[in-house]
Amino acid sequence: MSGRAQGPIPHFYFPAVSSQNRAQKRHTERAGPRPNACYTADVPATWSPESLSPEASLLRLQTGNRRFLEKGAAISSRVFRPELAEQPQCPFAIILGCSDSRTPVEILFDEGFGDLFVVRIAGNVVAPSVVGSIEFAASQFGTRLVVVMGHTRCGAISATVKALQSGNGPESRNLRAITDRISPHIAELAHTPGLEMQALLRESMRVNVRASADHLRHGSRLLEELVLAGRVAVVGAEYELETGKVHFFDGVPLSNSERPPHPK
Ligand SMILES: [Zn+2]
Repeated sequence: MSGRAQGPIPHFYFPAVSSQNRAQKRHTERAGPRPNACYTADVPATWSPESLSPEASLLRLQTGNRRFLEKGAAISSRVFRPELAEQPQCPFAIILGCSDSRTPVEILFDEGFGDLFVVRIAGNVVAPSVVGSIEFAASQFGTRLVVVMGHTRCGAISATVKALQSGNGPESRNLRAITDRISPHIAELAHTPGLEMQALLRESMRVNVRASADHLRHGSRLLEELVLAGRVAVVGAEYELETGKVHFFDGVPLSNSERPPHPK
């Protein structure tokens, strides 16, 4: 399995390839020593044969969330380690989450320093700088899984629903820069007669997650090419504030699929 990758982008440089065992060990050791290098500056690494597959990355997130739920979280991974400053970063997943203070990404996946490349913005909306951040991580660090993670009781979703139903958006144009990115996706839902508010908010959150995931899959040439080539997967998820559980519900590889949560 080791060796330089063949084919589609032959001009890409691949970091020195060690044995498959060593690569596997590197990605599964949670708090162990870091590799000396997982990418070389100026070199896209997403095609590296050493990079962890999207399926394996997702499994690690699912396992980490289970550990968190079982309250067996290994906080050793969150112990400060100054030696990381001397090493290149090698996150195994990119997470686009909401800024909500109740959704601390590393904690709820039971991960620590250097494990996750996290972009947080209210409503987990996709703005150009968000796309740029994700392109950067995907191309530079060989990170092959992108998760867009919404959450229940999201204030950005509530504010957008309220604006749509009342006809009055936020006064601040900066706040509108967020709600205006959510509105087009949930406008129809927000005006659906007879829909109970909690169900409306939850479905709106999911629709918004799907829209952000689609935007990442198709709104960036770099990401789209990586997705089409099977080198990167973009998955949608929701974090349940009420239970601590993360449900992956959009774009999930079959091998990682779990029973979908009951709608509330
Ligand atoms: Zn939120």
